[in-house]
Amino acid sequence: SAKDAGKNCYQFYSPHLSHRADHLMRWEQQLRVALAEEQLFLLYQPMIDLSRRCITGFEALARWNHPQHGIIAANEFIPIAESTGLIVPIGDFVIRTACRQLAVWQNDGYDSLSLSVNISAVQFWRGDLYETVSRAIEETGVAAHRLELEITETAMMEYPELVSEKIIALKRLGVRVALDDFGTGYSSLSYLNRFSVDTLKVDRSFVQAIPGDRSVCVMVSAIVNLARSLGLKVVVEGTETEEQIAWLSQLGRIEAQGFLFSRPVPADGIPALLERFGVCSAREAQSAQARG
Ligand code: C2E
Ligand code: MG
Ligand code: MG
Ligand code: MG
Repeated sequence: SAKDAGKNCYQFYSPHLSHRADHLMRWEQQLRVALAEEQLFLLYQPMIDLSRRCITGFEALARWNHPQHGIIAANEFIPIAESTGLIVPIGDFVIRTACRQLAVWQNDGYDSLSLSVNISAVQFWRGDLYETVSRAIEETGVAAHRLELEITETAMMEYPELVSEKIIALKRLGVRVALDDFGTGYSSLSYLNRFSVDTLKVDRSFVQAIPGDRSVCVMVSAIVNLARSLGLKVVVEGTETEEQIAWLSQLGRIEAQGFLFSRPVPADGIPALLERFGVCSAREAQSAQARG
């Protein structure tokens, strides 16, 4: 209420901050338990090649199955994990689980499918991302180029020297790099080269305005052309309607990820999606044309 707000303003340094610190500590403690007791898990959302309507790969998205609160969204607990440093062991878990999933696909003969994992800026300067990734790849025996690391512009900007140095090392292993939420950060274009990005993921906020907003359509079309001439793969995030897909399909070879095709599903829901859409063959895949 207004009264409470006024009270907080007045006593600005006493109960409020300590309450927030307590709050954070409680969640930190619970996240530690979550890691130890395997309450964290991944959902998988497919990326669909729009011209062929087959699956090229998936993005892994973290969830927390909390014993009291039920399933907690990534946007709720990833920020806590980042501010407490717990994103490092959580990120390790995500990368290891993703590589195991890639190994399952490899075993089943789906060796063209790729899997993308989200990486926080914190993972570049706390913990050893290179060590985690290289070990996960080695232990599971998966081909490095099938693992893609999704990084946002904001994350790249935080410590550009450090991040580009680490990305270069990771790329030498063969892993691919996607620029996530493209268009929402700053100075986008220079980052494409600097971080030797393979894939550009156009942010959902653009897609929402398609096809109604003419200037957004012009921008998306320009982004796709630019990306293509740079040899990058393009994934459009958050496609929810047939109208969006119809408009995007005329842009040529791009991929779409969104609720219209599928929401993120648990691992046991993957076979049904592969059955429904089919798997794009490796040779024709857009990724095959990308720089490597
Ligand atoms: P993101 O990497 O941009 O992931 C895409 C988000 O858009 C996911 O939300 C996905 O469920 C959602 N989405 C996909 N299609 C649609 C659609 O058609 N409509 C709408 N409205 N949303 C759609 P999610 O899973 O809640 O994740 C949110 C963010 O949390 C992710 O955004 C990513 O930045 C972060 N995140 C998720 N998992 C991880 C993780 O394992 N590690 C790190 N560091 N961050 C993660
Ligand atoms: Mg992502
Ligand atoms: Mg995104
Ligand atoms: Mg996002």
